[in-house]
Amino acid sequence: MNAVRHKTNISNVLVIGSGGAGLRAAIEAKLSGVEVTVIGKRKKEDVHTVLAAGGINASFGNVDPKDSWQQHFADTMIEGYHLSEPKMVELMAKEAPGLVEEIDQWGANFAKLENGKIDQRYFGAHTYRRTCYSGDYTGRSILKALIKKAKELKIPIYDSQYVTELLVHNNLCFGAMAFDINNGERTVFLADSTILAAGGHTRIWRKSSSRRNENSGDAFYLGLKAGCKLKDMELVQFHPTGMVVPEEIAGTLVTEAVRGEGGHLINGKGERYMAKYDADRMELSTRDRVAMANYLEIAEGRGSKNGGVYLDISHKSKEFIIQKLPRMYRQFLDTLMLDISKEPMEVAPTAHYSMGGIEVDPETHNTGVEGLFAAGECTGGLHGANRLGGNSLAEILIFGKRAGHHASQRSLSLDIQYRSKQVIREAHANIDRFLKHGDQVARPLQRELRNIMWEHCGVVRTEDKLEEGLRRIEKLKISVKLLDVRPDSEGFEDLMLAFDLEGAIMAAEATILGAKARKESRGAHQRADYIDTHKEHEVNYTIRLEANRKLVLGKEKLKPLTDELRSLVDDTDEITDFEGMLLE
Ligand SMILES: Cc1cc2nc3c(=O)[nH]c(=O)nc-3n(C[C@H](O)[C@H](O)[C@H](O)COP(=O)(O)OP(=O)(O)OC[C@H]3O[C@@H](n4cnc5c(N)ncnc54)[C@H](O)[C@@H]3O)c2cc1C
Repeated sequence: MNAVRHKTNISNVLVIGSGGAGLRAAIEAKLSGVEVTVIGKRKKEDVHTVLAAGGINASFGNVDPKDSWQQHFADTMIEGYHLSEPKMVELMAKEAPGLVEEIDQWGANFAKLENGKIDQRYFGAHTYRRTCYSGDYTGRSILKALIKKAKELKIPIYDSQYVTELLVHNNLCFGAMAFDINNGERTVFLADSTILAAGGHTRIWRKSSSRRNENSGDAFYLGLKAGCKLKDMELVQFHPTGMVVPEEIAGTLVTEAVRGEGGHLINGKGERYMAKYDADRMELSTRDRVAMANYLEIAEGRGSKNGGVYLDISHKSKEFIIQKLPRMYRQFLDTLMLDISKEPMEVAPTAHYSMGGIEVDPETHNTGVEGLFAAGECTGGLHGANRLGGNSLAEILIFGKRAGHHASQRSLSLDIQYRSKQVIREAHANIDRFLKHGDQVARPLQRELRNIMWEHCGVVRTEDKLEEGLRRIEKLKISVKLLDVRPDSEGFEDLMLAFDLEGAIMAAEATILGAKARKESRGAHQRADYIDTHKEHEVNYTIRLEANRKLVLGKEKLKPLTDELRSLVDDTDEITDFEGMLLE
């Protein structure tokens, strides 16, 4: 065996993930005067952030002058069903305008009003129009601007680097082990500070708005193994409108901007049914409410011909649709030859966003493992039990920047860079154990997991279904040990899929454990056997990994609101009749 089995890369700050959170973190670190390396498993131009469509929130008040950070704060807390981390929400609401203006200046090119100010559109459950946008390509515009800035700053970004392990000794993180998906070459990335920005886990449901080979829960797996705590993993947002057909891409997002721009939801009987569920806000109600409405219309037999409901914007002109919703217009023409300016779309709920995630300090985004920070969708805390559309893009810029700043400050304060050869040897062994012949292949097992999550931990959950889901997951764990993993002419994709699967299984188990503990219905977490929201569950459920690889559940009190912040929330109208919807 060769003495050296890997290349070594040394930097002050290592960023894992080249999505919006990772890039914004890297830029901040570099601007602070330290050397930074970014690695990601996908091509940087095509990471998950690129999918973000409808927009990013900032309370400029450009269209509705009454808007304020205070109102943004209150809307987020209320729609999060009071589970959000108040300090995090406050920071987001206050800092969003500055960061949105900055990214616009870096080239995100948001739509403008005639007076030159950034235009703002409605997104569901916002009191005012505060969502800034670039057509329905907002994520792409933001990502492009970040990549351009990172290039100007000469930040190295390495694609196709698959991280298998964070390198941790005595609760101190000193980097990560990765292999190149194309040729299997391993690299030990050493750093004073590491920022985990590796996204969420919604691809582990059968219907998902993510794509193949992304959002499979890697960040949660890496974080748990490193000693991080996850919180509120059961809180997964099901977006009300995913495509229904064609089957191969079922779940692909139909952006909320369609409703924001005036789209109507219609059932199979031709009724505009949102009046029954939220007569005031209709299609612009909260995501959880619209998702449940769609779910119930379909479950109770009033669905569309392919088992969805209809979303219709054909009352608007073709010109308007092409200007405001260019991606949606093309998406339906490309996949179904359907002209949405003439015919309605068929839509149904789809797994969309991980609201739970790694617990972090609200200001620094330190994880509690020394030297390890986290940012973006992989963190928990901001969105509570129901994310407001447009808040995630704000989050990745704001907390990406904060994590980058604090990670670089930590590096600047250190005299020595730590490393442990033993931990590196173990990281090699962790990869080696997969490289063997076996009688199982990863893709079918992934499909099985996605079915389990959809059937047992989907839009509506019960104790029995969750229990059965855990039993099926236990069986899957056995199959993972029998995986056949060998490099071939395509590279090391098998190995990537093996890790993806192991990570996805751990993320799935954490989610089901949280869902079992939360014996209530709150926001996106709906239990048919516990239909009410209960004060006693106004807590965060946490998950840790113990040394014996067992996931352990915990419970934490919510952080209290200051009197000033509480009065902001109290002054905003709240819809409370959501409980019991399942019975109607
Ligand atoms: C269809 C769609 C539309 C959306 N629209 C909006 C919207 O309009 N407004 C809004 O606010 N939010 C929206 N969102 C949510 C938002 O896009 C995401 O939450 C956000 O982009 C997440 O960014 P991130 O940087 O945290 O992670 P990501 O963009 O997911 O990046 C994760 C990175 O980690 C890397 N990675 C993962 N695992 C590994 C590993 N093992 N090794 C190495 N690298 C790894 C990936 O390759 C990638 O580079 C939308 C989401 C979807 C799916």
